[in-house]
Amino acid sequence: MHDATLVVRAGKPRHSQGEPFLPGPTFAGSFHLEGEPSSSPFYYGRNHNPTWANYERALGLLEGGDAVVFSSGMAAITSVFSVVLLRNGGKWQKPPMLVMPSDSYYGARKLVEQHFAPLGISVRFIPTRDMGKGNFPEGATIIWVETPSNPELDVCDLSEIISAAHNSGALVAVDNTTATPLGQKPLEFGADFSVSSDTKAMAGHNDLILGHVAAREPKWTEMLRAFRSQQGAVPGPMEIWLAHRSLATLELRLSRQCNNAMEIAGYLVERKEVKSVRYPGLPDDPAFEVASKQMKYFGPVVSFVLESKSQADRFLESCELVESATSFGSVHTTAERRARWGGDNISEGFIRLSAGCEDIRDILEDIAQALDKASAK
Ligand SMILES: *Cc1c(COP(=O)(O)O)cnc(C)c1O
Repeated sequence: MHDATLVVRAGKPRHSQGEPFLPGPTFAGSFHLEGEPSSSPFYYGRNHNPTWANYERALGLLEGGDAVVFSSGMAAITSVFSVVLLRNGGKWQKPPMLVMPSDSYYGARKLVEQHFAPLGISVRFIPTRDMGKGNFPEGATIIWVETPSNPELDVCDLSEIISAAHNSGALVAVDNTTATPLGQKPLEFGADFSVSSDTKAMAGHNDLILGHVAAREPKWTEMLRAFRSQQGAVPGPMEIWLAHRSLATLELRLSRQCNNAMEIAGYLVERKEVKSVRYPGLPDDPAFEVASKQMKYFGPVVSFVLESKSQADRFLESCELVESATSFGSVHTTAERRARWGGDNISEGFIRLSAGCEDIRDILEDIAQALDKASAK
């Protein structure tokens, strides 16, 4: 089945007279349970929930593996790090080693620096653009990859990294948030984990926080499910149901968003006050060649640099339709001056823009007038 069909159908029960297409959220702390717990598929809401199970089936089909949902992208990331790196409970002869892009999602780097490194995990940072063939230290336990990276939109070659990592005995996890499994399927390239913040394009409406991990080997998803129940970062059934409902339009949303992103990037390149533009879909972009090889969609995120902090702020204030907000991937076109958060190696005038699903003519007109205002002396 093709992805555009899968997103509409996957994870929904077979037709049954008088039943809804997507069953509503099951709100349950405890389920009725007499006698042996194994006699029931459901007993306690921290362990399992039928609404999760439906969405996980859909995600598994899209990713080409088994999927586990979490209450946020960060919970998904923390869980992968925990089951892979802390497996031996600190009783290791040589500390496990995590190799991570120095330009990966700030929250993930912060987590590693503040919570995993102090436990004795050895951590090495490498820029995404240098993560090519085997270009990482010997003895890595897991290579964390984010392609395209957020917010700088560099890409790295998944097939090359995965085969080099596997040859040296390392696992590979891909943070696939910016691409979504429609844009790029890490497990098909041989990755061990595909990790996502479903808060972004997967759910796509700026209305919830969720995440998931898909893995090729059931042993990992078993551990992740156990870890989820033990550590307790479980998703609410309402959020999962909303995400499953939104999944049906993922292909429609993403194709419109990516077309809009391409148009916006092309327009920005033409404007003289824009110092540089990054979009993996631009034929002149350094990411284009590798991105074209491994991505079906180039994603909704465009980044560009204006001359200064004040020019970037004036641009954002002058936008009428492009909303100032953090995050990306939703039906609304949003933008922000990324350096307002700190933590990324970017200039003060760096703007990350996420293309929404509006009519591109309105968005281009808005960007044009805001750039005029921002650059007027
Ligand atoms: C947003 C994001 C995350 C974190 O996800 P949350 O759902 O906010 O916890 C992780 N990785 C990337 C690339 C992201 O953009």
